[in-house]
Amino acid sequence: MSYPNYVRKLMEEVLKLKERRKAVILAHNYQLPEVQDVADFVGDSLELARKALTVDADVIVFAGVSFMAEMVAALNPDKVVLHPDPRARCLLADMLTPEHVRRVREESPNTPLILYVNSPTELKALADYVVTSSSAAKLVSKLGVDEVILAPDKNLADYVAQVTGVKVKALPKYGHCPIHENLISRYYVEKALSKYPGAKVIIHPEAPRDARELAVRVGSTSQMLKAIPEVGGGTILLGTEEGLTYRARKLYPNLDIKPLNPIAVCTDMKKIHLLNIKESLEKLRPRVELSRDVLKRVKEVIEESLRVIGK
Ligand code: SF4
Repeated sequence: MSYPNYVRKLMEEVLKLKERRKAVILAHNYQLPEVQDVADFVGDSLELARKALTVDADVIVFAGVSFMAEMVAALNPDKVVLHPDPRARCLLADMLTPEHVRRVREESPNTPLILYVNSPTELKALADYVVTSSSAAKLVSKLGVDEVILAPDKNLADYVAQVTGVKVKALPKYGHCPIHENLISRYYVEKALSKYPGAKVIIHPEAPRDARELAVRVGSTSQMLKAIPEVGGGTILLGTEEGLTYRARKLYPNLDIKPLNPIAVCTDMKKIHLLNIKESLEKLRPRVELSRDVLKRVKEVIEESLRVIGK
């Protein structure tokens, strides 16, 4: 992408600082194009978690929302993990409360409690497993049980139940990502298809079932990217946060890829930008700081989940 001069200058400054601090930048697929372009690695939550385990650097700058930065800190207890704006939070994650977890543990003590990665870090420490949208169905299938509890996304819970045949209880019943629930809804899928007749829709499992029904593929952001060259030619509409389209167009410059809904923007994801990345590298702040006990327990839950999911 060709950027205005002031953006190019900022990008150069960030890259120099990154080298001086021996830092790496990990960026989520929903980040701004210029942030993706200064990052060492761009991916979905699972890819970033795996990358964080092998990264060789003193400092990690995490460009994404807070629970993701905290997960990276949990996996890298001896590294400095910077989150340029801790106010970048996930509205879905914040729908799950300690009271929900306490109550469900009391009511169903023997049912596996699976937390979607988009959940508060302290509550992950109380879960049996942690999954991402790319690993949820795989983990549930491998557990070999009749019933699980999945928190906090009701649409992901519904999708996992659909593909695995396992009973999946959503906790809380109303948990959802407002961007996917409201802006990747059936209304917007139909609207996009009337504008681009015959287009192929690839959609994220956080979208509601009636929207997913119109898609040719459902998957996490990395699975959506992988599906693009597999669904045949013509226009491809990506049913998720609009930031993924930049990455997709970079990977497949000759394909006609469009966001299903260009106003599906996660404003929290966009709170991370070049200016606060630069400032965090200069000051080595704000750092992710959570209790070592919580981070240790979260690391154990994530590692056990990755072990069950397999490579
Ligand atoms: Fe959370 Fe939705 Fe934003 Fe993803 S897009 S970070 S689930 S609010």
